[in-house]
Amino acid sequence: MDCLLRYCRAGFETECAEEIAAETAALPTAGAPCAGSGFVECRFSAAPDPAALTALTDWARAIFARQSLLAFAHLQSLPRTDRLTPIMAILAERGERYFDAWVEAPETDEGKALAPFCKSFGNALIGGLKKARLLDPTGRSLSASEARDGRERPAASRRLHAFFPQSDNVYLAAADPRSSAPWPQGIPRLKFPREAPSRSTLKLEEALLTLLDPGERERWLKPGMTAVDLGAAPGGWTWQLVRRSLRVTAVDNGPMDAALMQSGLVAHTREDGFRFRPKKPVDWMVCDMVEQPRRIAELVARWFADGWCRQSIFNLKLPMKKRYAETMLCLDLIRGKLAGAGRDVELRAKQLYHDREEITVFCRLRK
Ligand code: SAM
Repeated sequence: MDCLLRYCRAGFETECAEEIAAETAALPTAGAPCAGSGFVECRFSAAPDPAALTALTDWARAIFARQSLLAFAHLQSLPRTDRLTPIMAILAERGERYFDAWVEAPETDEGKALAPFCKSFGNALIGGLKKARLLDPTGRSLSASEARDGRERPAASRRLHAFFPQSDNVYLAAADPRSSAPWPQGIPRLKFPREAPSRSTLKLEEALLTLLDPGERERWLKPGMTAVDLGAAPGGWTWQLVRRSLRVTAVDNGPMDAALMQSGLVAHTREDGFRFRPKKPVDWMVCDMVEQPRRIAELVARWFADGWCRQSIFNLKLPMKKRYAETMLCLDLIRGKLAGAGRDVELRAKQLYHDREEITVFCRLRK
């Protein structure tokens, strides 16, 4: 049994399924994607070609997925007294060695209640794998970025995932660390920095961590670079940029955090973010204004078309209905306008853990 398994935010299963349906339209699927609670599965009726599978399981490309895996088994009605034996039977038959094993549950109320079980079963599974000589901890996890930097694959190159929607129901999947989310449940657990002016700061921190790789962060966020933050108050996003020694023009009618202003790296201007124009082009434009997504998409397209910034991270606050269609419409709008203006841009979008009814987008002018 081969099945695409994607974890998503609870309440966004429809969008996750719509995205999978669009990506698998030309593939041999056994029916439409099927939404669980906090995840979606899509079964194949025949093995899709390897290139298609590689693209489907590349977590970075999926907007509404926190993790994207190829499951090789789905066991239901597991005996509650001994779940390990049937799981180990399947793993022994496959004979693949893993460098690690994660036991996970969806990020739903039901899934959260399974956290103690996942922890204890994780220990049992690791023990079972060791006993069966299927664990090779010397094969270490490579992040996607390390791999893109050309580092070698280790001996045991994949991580085992045991994903439990309920405690007697498990999907088994193997993930390549170069293309899968590097955090259990696909959730980066970030600590709120006490000095940051707002919790929104975690959104930009997660965006930088998720949408850029370490090499890109180093190259594209250098001390002395310039940024404009549209809808900046009280300054959580500006704080992330200042922390990296960028000089920021914060645009907002609301007040900015006093301690942040003392950094000397922030100029606050009380203007309408839709009318503001930078005096000189800047390296970054970030935008967290609560506005209709199409208005934000138009604004971003304008910034790039007119050459006012090289890179941008912005939020698209999604409507209550047709959220997938609206997402596609906004991304197409940006692409279309910029193609018309002779600008070649790259877009990466993700619904982040710290996002709510929104997605976060990175846009960059290619050379
Ligand atoms: N990113 C901020 C942070 O991390 O602290 C939080 C931004 S808050 C979600 C949205 C902000 O956008 C508000 O401070 C609001 O005043 C501002 N805003 C909304 N519409 C605006 C506009 N047209 N021009 C400038 N600021 C605007």
